Amino acid sequence: MPDNTNNNSNDDEYEKYCYMCRRPESETGKLLGMAENIYICPDCLQKAFNSINNNSFQFMDFSKFPGFDNMNAFTHMNDIPNSQKVKKKKPKEETKENKGSEFENLTLDKVPAPHKIKEMLDDYVIGQEYAKKVISVAVYNHYKRVLTNTMDDIEIEKSNMLMIGPTGSGKTYMVKTIAKLLNVPLAITDATSLTEAGYIGDDVESILSKLLAVAGNDVEKAEKGIVFIDEIDKLAKKKETHSRDVSGEAVQQGLLKILEGADVEVPVGSGSKNAMTPTTVMNTRNILFICGGAFPDLEEIITNRLTKMSSIGFGAELRDTYEQDPQILSKVTNEDLRTFGMIPEFLGRLPIVYTLDALDKDMYVKILKEPKNAILKQYKKLLLLDEVDLEFDDSAYEAIAELAMERNTGARALRSIIEEFMLDIMYQIPRDDSIGRVIITGDYINKKGAPIIKLRGTD
Ligand code: ADP
Repeated sequence: MPDNTNNNSNDDEYEKYCYMCRRPESETGKLLGMAENIYICPDCLQKAFNSINNNSFQFMDFSKFPGFDNMNAFTHMNDIPNSQKVKKKKPKEETKENKGSEFENLTLDKVPAPHKIKEMLDDYVIGQEYAKKVISVAVYNHYKRVLTNTMDDIEIEKSNMLMIGPTGSGKTYMVKTIAKLLNVPLAITDATSLTEAGYIGDDVESILSKLLAVAGNDVEKAEKGIVFIDEIDKLAKKKETHSRDVSGEAVQQGLLKILEGADVEVPVGSGSKNAMTPTTVMNTRNILFICGGAFPDLEEIITNRLTKMSSIGFGAELRDTYEQDPQILSKVTNEDLRTFGMIPEFLGRLPIVYTLDALDKDMYVKILKEPKNAILKQYKKLLLLDEVDLEFDDSAYEAIAELAMERNTGARALRSIIEEFMLDIMYQIPRDDSIGRVIITGDYINKKGAPIIKLRGTD
């Protein structure tokens, strides 16, 4: 006879199934209990009755039912499996798709005032004072507008932004930090992958698909999110081209509707629209769009304009002053951006334009030392777990900064430089228990010497 003694202990994990069609109770509906732990679902029971009726009192032919080979099944009760239950499905674990719940609903009292946003940014982003101020005010105004929904006769304009700054100066990092502080969904995309609808590449709607995915497919949360479109300068109108500019000007045109605010049909879970992809409608009126780009050669365009404007006779001299001005980028106007190749309608939808400074040596040193999650702090913490103090002397900071400046990729270079020289340290130190302190010097960074190692108890 079946042994049911152990079955009750974890009854909750199992569910019964129909003895005839083998479907679990969650699929069939309530099962009818028979003798000896046998259960039959309503469908199979109905079939059995129908069969009896059709054959008018002929013996029931159980072989017609799936899972019921012959009548012997009833006579071999000992063969009945000792559990008439199948394991229940576990509740779904939190996955990338349903993690949207982590974004709380933003309310007006949760949006910090601009000076608070800037203070929070200061903990992470070094320098870029002007940019931090502009973004703090713009983000604050945007969410005030969205959350109070004040759309009477004085309509508050959307504060979409255009950030101009050299590569690695903190554009993406600033936007990421803001989105994290406000706990709103953020999608980061690259303008270079976009093409006009119908051509190979991503349609502009793919940007919204990404945002929707980040928001856990919650349309309402996605509609209050932030989209950062990087490398926007790559959409500049191509000069001297006779073929259709499907990845430049046409994409700028395609973005107009989305930037301004419209109902857009968005593919769910995939970047491309096709007959098989489900779509949903998203309204982009309350999505904050931030575009960023390095705009190479923009300095020259600005210098040309300024020299042309003010030169009567002193052209060459003036040109020199402008060319040496490190802040030249901050004098950018819409006219310069148009000369660069951005179309006026596009610029019109990005009312806030500001620039970021190129990083100098001081800023690099500060980036190494000061941000809350500075990379060197992370290494220090790691080694502290082995009870080893990691220190850097001033010459080390300077040497790293100088190497980073040579690479011309902004603060992004810092990580790769640090990782190169930390590899040996992280490999060798845990090997020797007697080491208590390691001091990294400029000579070590420049491969002219070794780090200073102090043994425990020798300080
Ligand atoms: P981009 O301007 O090209 O978008 P990122 O924002 O991606 O550059 O910067 C790359 C990395 O460099 C960031 O992840 C960040 O760690 C660091 N970084 C860049 N600028 C700053 C800064 N001003 N303050 C602190 N860290 C910075």
